[in-house]
Amino acid sequence: MPRGLTVDGFPTEEELKKSPGYPSEERFKRGPVAVVECVQEIPCNPCELACPRKAIQVGVPITNLPRLDEEKCTGCGICVARCPGLAIFVVDKTYSDKEASVSFPYEYVPLPREGDVVLAVDRAGSVVCDGTVLRISNPKRNDRTAVVTIAVPKGMADEVRGIARIRGERIG
Ligand code: SF4
Ligand code: SF4
Repeated sequence: MPRGLTVDGFPTEEELKKSPGYPSEERFKRGPVAVVECVQEIPCNPCELACPRKAIQVGVPITNLPRLDEEKCTGCGICVARCPGLAIFVVDKTYSDKEASVSFPYEYVPLPREGDVVLAVDRAGSVVCDGTVLRISNPKRNDRTAVVTIAVPKGMADEVRGIARIRGERIG
């Protein structure tokens, strides 16, 4: 049975890896990098305008899929909060021997705290493993879209894209 964006509402890893916003495995080995999971041809380009290194290009027409120049990207994460589709992440597969870090946009309250043990979820929102909150970035320029970074087992770096929403009580 076919799967993917049109069936499930979120793309498969195969669809993503074919898209121009997805870094190569070689690039992942060299440290943090943006993962642009935008595979629908919509008129949108804040990601292009946000990147100070011009590492994301949409160009003309504005419905082009965003293209990541993985050599220019430093993994700074500025673009993560600027994407209205919440479709950009930063993944660092070199974070430690056993863990990768994943940064993602988070628009709920309460925010988690550094050191919290949280439930990491995949693109479908299913819990896939535990994570530990490393940092939360929420400067005024983010316009209330916080960027949360968690550490997860290295093998989960391609799957984890968020955390379970914390309802009332904090996890951990
Ligand atoms: S992570 Fe930083 S350098 Fe990379 S695309 Fe985003 S804004 Fe540009
Ligand atoms: S800002 Fe987000 S939704 Fe818009 S084109 Fe860029 S990646 Fe896609």
